[in-house]
Amino acid sequence: MLTLIRNALVYSPQLLGLQDVLFCGPNVLQIAKGIKVPDAAWVKEVDANGCILIPGLVDPLVHITGGGGEGGYHTRTPEMQLTDATLAGVTTLVAALGTDAVSRSLNELVIKARALTYEGLSVFCYTGSYEFPVKTITGDVTQDLMMIDNVIGVGEIAIADHRGSQLSVAELARVAAQSRVGGMLSGKAGIVFVHVGDGASGLKLLHQVAQQSDIPLTQFYPTHINRSQPLLEQGVEFAKKGGVIDFTTSTNQHFLNHGEVSVVSAVKFAFEQGVELSRISLSSDGNASLPVFDSAGECIGVEVGKVSSLFNAMQALIISGFTLEQILPLVTSNAARNLKLKRKGGIGLDKDADFVLLDHKLAINKVWGKGQLLVDNGIAVKRGTFELY
Ligand code: ZN
Repeated sequence: MLTLIRNALVYSPQLLGLQDVLFCGPNVLQIAKGIKVPDAAWVKEVDANGCILIPGLVDPLVHITGGGGEGGYHTRTPEMQLTDATLAGVTTLVAALGTDAVSRSLNELVIKARALTYEGLSVFCYTGSYEFPVKTITGDVTQDLMMIDNVIGVGEIAIADHRGSQLSVAELARVAAQSRVGGMLSGKAGIVFVHVGDGASGLKLLHQVAQQSDIPLTQFYPTHINRSQPLLEQGVEFAKKGGVIDFTTSTNQHFLNHGEVSVVSAVKFAFEQGVELSRISLSSDGNASLPVFDSAGECIGVEVGKVSSLFNAMQALIISGFTLEQILPLVTSNAARNLKLKRKGGIGLDKDADFVLLDHKLAINKVWGKGQLLVDNGIAVKRGTFELY
């Protein structure tokens, strides 16, 4: 069965104007005005008059098997479900372990990624862990990249964090080299996705690796850069030196009250400081734990980071005055480019049929993943295996 979307205002993420889009399964066959089809019986037409078609969102950090649990065993966050992503327009995501690489494993991560891929998403993984020596599946980072299809890099490796392994320059350089070689030999990104904590050293270790080894700064993709104003300022410098930076969209009032910079403020600040928007991406940190504190500073509960925060951040940035064309790359093509996901993050004949159809108020109406209709009229028409009841 072919699907033909009629008269949508298409952002690829560049504005392409009013277009028809014809696709069959994951393959986009034609993007043009007034596409004619020989036999209407084979084509499901979607009238997209007054609607906007954007690429499915790409989320470069989600803890699909749950992440964190820093308040004890009972605070281990749950696994992600299919509709956590699809109802928020996210069709591609990259999964990582988190603080806890004991009760959660890379085997579990890779298998859960396959499960979500089966259900309709496109899910990739980072091998490795917060801690060093990093966890691997086959015993070696390079080998993981070469032998396991959905492994595209290593991460989250924690720096500037009391929960990390207090890595030396040589140790981080060695992991980066292993990932770099694995990436080259497998044709994948081989990127090192770096969790940056609230330690004062910030991004210093990454600069030291670039200065003292043959690993370039571009090997690293640091996240949580909006964690504090000082780290954001370091991130601006990092981006100006040719690096890419990632801001986290899941948050709560406690973090914002204690120095975290909202994504809207962080993007505005970086933009005003002269950082090209192509150097910034957003990730949800979905299913990470977000501790909640009372006024006396006592931890009284744990919230869970949400994949949907990515879409909400996109909307908030547009309300704040950016255009859709400016902001879309931050949630689609920038991460896809950084992670060498060549068929993701855009609308084109060389991309998968991952689409989000928005109404004129930028609310999600339909979502397709690899050509499969996942959300219709804002309701999940495809549910995960354990979301049926
Ligand atoms: Zn992290």
